[in-house]
Amino acid sequence: MSHSETSTSNSLEFYKRFASLGHTFYTELQPTPIKSPYLIATSPSMLAEFNLSAKQMQSQEVVEIFSGNRAQPGSTPLASVYSGHQFGIWAGQLGDGRAILLGELASKQSGALHEIQLKGAGMTPYSRMGDGRAVLRSSIREFLCSEAMAGLGIPTSRALCITGSDQYTMREMPEKTAIVTRTAPSFIRFGSFEHWYYNDKSEQLKTLADFVIEHYYPDLAQSENPYQALLRAVVIKTADLVALWQSVGFMHGVLNTDNMSILGLTLDYGPFGFMDGYDPAHICNHSDNQGRYSYQMQPRIGQWNCHALAQALLPLIGDVESTQEALSCYVGQFESSYERVMQAKFGLTTLQADDQNLFTEYLEIMAEAGTDFTLAFRQLSRIQTTSKQNDNFLRDLFVNRERLDVWLESYRKRLQLEHSQDLERQTCMNQVNPKYVLRNYLAQQAIERAEQKDFSEVHKLLTILATPYDEQIEHETYAQLPPDWASTLSVSCSS
Ligand code: AMP
Ligand code: MG
Repeated sequence: MSHSETSTSNSLEFYKRFASLGHTFYTELQPTPIKSPYLIATSPSMLAEFNLSAKQMQSQEVVEIFSGNRAQPGSTPLASVYSGHQFGIWAGQLGDGRAILLGELASKQSGALHEIQLKGAGMTPYSRMGDGRAVLRSSIREFLCSEAMAGLGIPTSRALCITGSDQYTMREMPEKTAIVTRTAPSFIRFGSFEHWYYNDKSEQLKTLADFVIEHYYPDLAQSENPYQALLRAVVIKTADLVALWQSVGFMHGVLNTDNMSILGLTLDYGPFGFMDGYDPAHICNHSDNQGRYSYQMQPRIGQWNCHALAQALLPLIGDVESTQEALSCYVGQFESSYERVMQAKFGLTTLQADDQNLFTEYLEIMAEAGTDFTLAFRQLSRIQTTSKQNDNFLRDLFVNRERLDVWLESYRKRLQLEHSQDLERQTCMNQVNPKYVLRNYLAQQAIERAEQKDFSEVHKLLTILATPYDEQIEHETYAQLPPDWASTLSVSCSS
């Protein structure tokens, strides 16, 4: 048989690294088959990662494997147990209520193992009140945003494909069902550690920490206190991640500790949002009444969550001082990371004492009249160092133009101070200020078409968002201000 004729299932050799943790960490179970599944979309870069072709993905065999209808020989699917703090309150045991790990596949590029997880493939022992399913609407959002974040260069879980079914799932109303085939080196969360800590199971806590260090932070094994080093590494990754979120106006929406990745990845795309008109207090999750997870709260919540992880790792680290010390890295790391990314967004090659004020004031002017976050940074790159010729591209976005003009004067002075070259600066700025982000209304348009079985908009967004920093003149409309109806859209935890 030639390679193309070889059954694709032969090339899907699942490793069982997570399963080696032992049975207390998960429950083995088969996904629940769904009615007549079909392929909605695949991520070209993830296919390349696993050496799968678009044609192979079209085969019924593969669609059935990735929708959970067909058991893959050699794979022992499982749902893992974890706990967590939800909205700041200890929620006890949660677990993969609707995610089933098929096993790990080796990257053909790096050889590294990636977990392959089906989200929405049926109930598990951890489903609590849930039905184990995910609706088409939320699955399209997760699929597109995973890939959009990767395009932005922000650490994230990925999505290999999305499969659908005309079978209905009940939410506020019946909705079509879908399954996202997610991948990440690991889906282990802060809550995975909290689980063992709060259940007073020090043996499992240690097993889990050793597993994470061995496979994901091998360099730390040599540290004097590997568990303290692990906490420090996760704190740093988390602070860096939140800084990147802030820099593109991304709001996660549900930053519970069970949604915090031990690898510093963006995890679990639910009621997330990208900022349209800038309002630092914006709450993207309609169910978040207190604004705990608003845009401006994210840095503090990242720290709060690290604190929860520190608490869980304390018995392994051994003493409060060492734990505090590792935790205390958060603030400095976030500040330097955020400053660095803002410096790049404003096109500065050096960082001067007053720059923080320059950044803050621009954000304040944006907030005054709710200027579009993405456009305000993208258009900033057109400003010229010695002439006002291009100012109107930016001024058009603002209502409070007098204040902007004053700011532009100090910005120009600042650029002149470092002899900034317009073209060079613009090129650099356009590599960090995206032109295209997954605005809620864009996702909504793709969802509405998909409900009618037209997946062209999903495919189109996937392509555009894979290279969000490129001009893509032919897709200009996707970079424009959102239409008025976009402000009435609301997203909640219902998914
Ligand atoms: P999430 O907000 O998606 O992170 O979910 C919080 C917890 O509820 C996790 O333990 C999920 O596995 C579980 N969960 C969410 N939705 C469902 C569902 N439809 N069926 C079963 N479990 C769910
Ligand atoms: Mg979750």
